[in-house]
Amino acid sequence: MAGPANTRSTTSRRFPYGAVPAVLGAVVLMVSLAFGLPGTRSASAASPCAVAYSLNQWTGGFTAQVTVTNNAAPVTSWTLTWTFAGDQKVTSAWNAQVTQAGQAVTARDSGYNGTLATGGSTTFGLQATFSGQNAVPGDFALNGARCDGDGTPTPTPTPTPTPCAQAAFCDGFEDQTGTTLSGAWQPSYPDCQGTGTVAVDHTQAHSGSTSIRVDGGATYCDHAFAVNTTGVAAAGSVLYVRYYVRHAQALPAGHVAFTTLTDAADGGKHLRLGGQNQALQWNRESDDATLPEQSPAGVAMSVPLPVNQWSCLEFAINGTNGTMSTWLNGTEVSGLHLDGTPTPDVDRQWLSRANWRPRPTDLRLGWESYGGARDTLWFDDVAVNGSRIGC
Ligand code: CA
Repeated sequence: MAGPANTRSTTSRRFPYGAVPAVLGAVVLMVSLAFGLPGTRSASAASPCAVAYSLNQWTGGFTAQVTVTNNAAPVTSWTLTWTFAGDQKVTSAWNAQVTQAGQAVTARDSGYNGTLATGGSTTFGLQATFSGQNAVPGDFALNGARCDGDGTPTPTPTPTPTPCAQAAFCDGFEDQTGTTLSGAWQPSYPDCQGTGTVAVDHTQAHSGSTSIRVDGGATYCDHAFAVNTTGVAAAGSVLYVRYYVRHAQALPAGHVAFTTLTDAADGGKHLRLGGQNQALQWNRESDDATLPEQSPAGVAMSVPLPVNQWSCLEFAINGTNGTMSTWLNGTEVSGLHLDGTPTPDVDRQWLSRANWRPRPTDLRLGWESYGGARDTLWFDDVAVNGSRIGC
């Protein structure tokens, strides 16, 4: 089950800046922009941070040198976030751990450079690919505070109303009282119960005030799920599932699953959505096929599941023609796409079984670790339908 280690987007090495352009070939553009620096505009005097973003760009790629200055209280660790406007995709980074989900980028300190005094600054770099325009990001935020703002922490965006009313099944868990699951959802400890737990949580929610919390442990006995059968039954043979998930630990190198569906057409074995090599992955329990294949190229076509924020996960399982699609925050993940045409590094392994036609009978949200990893996860606003629901 273990594939080659994936080092994409988590590289962290000391890299002297003077050496960067020399190893990258033609430099056709140099841009240096500063945000929130004193004097650039009146509102910037109170900006909690400033970012200088310098580009060395060539056809199809670029490096960016990013210097971030902390103008607020001292910190011992930092996270800088921004959003690319186009198809920029980070391929490596130095002096920071950089991950990307769709167009959203998160850069975290590398430990040795986590401390920033008031007025202190640090510099990291990244390399990325792109096509078309390569606009400089405009929404840098340091530890959640916008660098072009007035120091007020960026509020959590108001969740877009979801069309639950149109879905065959939708549950935001607001009718769950107490801490024990009831009604359409039941706790499930499919193997033996160790330290894994599932409970109703009234302190964390994507919408409203309630969600499901799963504390998943590292061993076989720690598998814990909330199981539902009514949603899948309502959807029919073409199944679309949408839910919001938040979790605390980055997907590990080892194999994990946080969603399973019992496949009545496959001897009751599970379809598992989870991760391996730090990126999202589907796994078919009966023959251990993975989507994508766990080659470096396959893993690179998937994405990590962002931590400490709500993410919208959607997937489609078509029991009529045996296809699957998966979206993270509204963007389809190319490595999690199963169609009728074998694609190298993606779905050839899955398609090795002819005429695969799944028939899910339940939906389980929780945690199953096969390699010693643990995580805490929250689930909310779970919708099931016969057509795509959206975020
Ligand atoms: Ca809720």
